[in-house]
Amino acid sequence: MRKPIMAGNWKMNCDNAEACKLACGVVENMGCPGQAEVVLGVPATALTTVVGCTKDSPVGVAAQNMFWADSGAYTGEISAAMILSTGAQWVIIGHSERRGRFGKLEDGWTDAHVAYFGDSDATVNAKTKQALRAGLKPIVCCGELLSERQAGQADAVVAAQVKAMLDGLSAEDAAKMVIAYEPVWAIGTGEVCDADEADRICGIVRATVAEMVGADVAEGMRVLYGGSVKADNVEGLMAKPNIDGGLVGGASLKVDGFVPLIQAAKASVE
Ligand code: PEP
Repeated sequence: MRKPIMAGNWKMNCDNAEACKLACGVVENMGCPGQAEVVLGVPATALTTVVGCTKDSPVGVAAQNMFWADSGAYTGEISAAMILSTGAQWVIIGHSERRGRFGKLEDGWTDAHVAYFGDSDATVNAKTKQALRAGLKPIVCCGELLSERQAGQADAVVAAQVKAMLDGLSAEDAAKMVIAYEPVWAIGTGEVCDADEADRICGIVRATVAEMVGADVAEGMRVLYGGSVKADNVEGLMAKPNIDGGLVGGASLKVDGFVPLIQAAKASVE
């Protein structure tokens, strides 16, 4: 049985005082997570603080991005070693808000869909390899745009992203990854993907992993769903055979939004 994961993605929210309050609130209220793993994806400035606040608890801490080089002239970037030096063990890679496949404001895209950072399949692969080399546990994201779904391309887009993120990885390394399927149109919109459809695409992720690195790795791989996960839809998602947890933005910013999701992940394997 795969151990479910409930991972929060705080995005660019929480200064150090707020981060400490939120992390402590999660730790104090979540109860025993049982078989479920809990991860908080926090801003780089709050990594040390949140590692401190979650010390002696089962909560893991993730950075939200990293660079693929060891060190050097990369102003503003952080390395895997820097993340590890804070005590964090996880990193989110290739979130759609960091990928460069979006429109521009002048083309009618909303602010939430504009690409600011330009991650590509190749840079996501480079970051994933570097994270694994350094000993970080990567949660690597994939997911189609609304226009791709409407054009009937969702399956092919997701499969291609998964192939690209796994390119050149050994089965042993791939087995240490977590993949998050996050349809872009469901992120921060309140529009959750239907649980059957999310399960179907997570199944495509798993089949692609099998094709790339073998059936054993695919069988053990945790595949998360992300996109407007909340207390009122989490149970249906967690009940699906190919969904092993959630990557959660908005609902992870409040203790009473996130704790029920942790409890649902725990209940899904009891
Ligand atoms: C996310 O940030 O990865 C996400 C899924 O956000 P939300 O839960 O707010 O849709």
